[in-house]
Amino acid sequence: MVQLSNIHKSFGALHILKGVNLNVGKGEVVVILGPSGSGKTTLLRTINFLENADEGSVTVNGFTVKCHHPHKRDVLTLRRKTAMVFQNYNLFQNKTVLENVMEALVTVKKMKREEAEARSRDVLEKVGLKEKADFYPTQISGGQQQRAGIARALILNPDVILFDEPTSALDPELVGEVLATIKAVASTGITMIVVTHEISFAREVASRVVFMDGGNIIEEGGTEEILTNPREERTKQFLKRIT
Ligand code: ADP
Repeated sequence: MVQLSNIHKSFGALHILKGVNLNVGKGEVVVILGPSGSGKTTLLRTINFLENADEGSVTVNGFTVKCHHPHKRDVLTLRRKTAMVFQNYNLFQNKTVLENVMEALVTVKKMKREEAEARSRDVLEKVGLKEKADFYPTQISGGQQQRAGIARALILNPDVILFDEPTSALDPELVGEVLATIKAVASTGITMIVVTHEISFAREVASRVVFMDGGNIIEEGGTEEILTNPREERTKQFLKRIT
């Protein structure tokens, strides 16, 4: 479903991603772990061209875009196959939860408001936010805001959802409800790539774990294999530090 080939990315003189290759199959939930600064978020953002990699190519559901000088139209086509859930929710503050979720249906899909609203209310129910549809982001908790972010990602039926540290801005007592929502979404069989530090979540939900360090994938494999029995010294040290 997602194929990254030889992804390189520099910021100025800093070579951040150093030829990353990654394949994610349909329905897989891949968790990307690694120390801060190892390039996890940058890698995730190259998938939908929020960061344009310098070299390599990205394929989503059979559609390939070369990263060097891509056509704008191709980037849009690829981007519409993906959705992203951000660390800081990225909700429109001046729109209600319902309006946030409807937005893309009305503007991108040109759907009639009544149909868009009905579909949005359905998705809000799935993430447990039916009662909060008419609230503004500032009127609900961080956990509820992030669940609205997840509803907004789901509404366009993407081929893959990218989660960028979805719980790291939350107060600890709100992390559980968001992880439970992500877990429920995973159980529907949608392909997901998740950057997170939540090892216990990875253990419960991931079909595969990828460990990154210094702009490269150091090792990847089955969840238990990587979390319990990593081969690489750097993975062992990282897991020791965070568990
Ligand atoms: P991680 O998600 O693993 O913590 P990031 O992908 O966020 O790592 O960042 C990797 C490196 O790239 C860091 O050194 C960070 O400072 C740098 N970086 C990320 N985005 C930018 C940017 N827009 N401009 C310059 N440097 C950046």
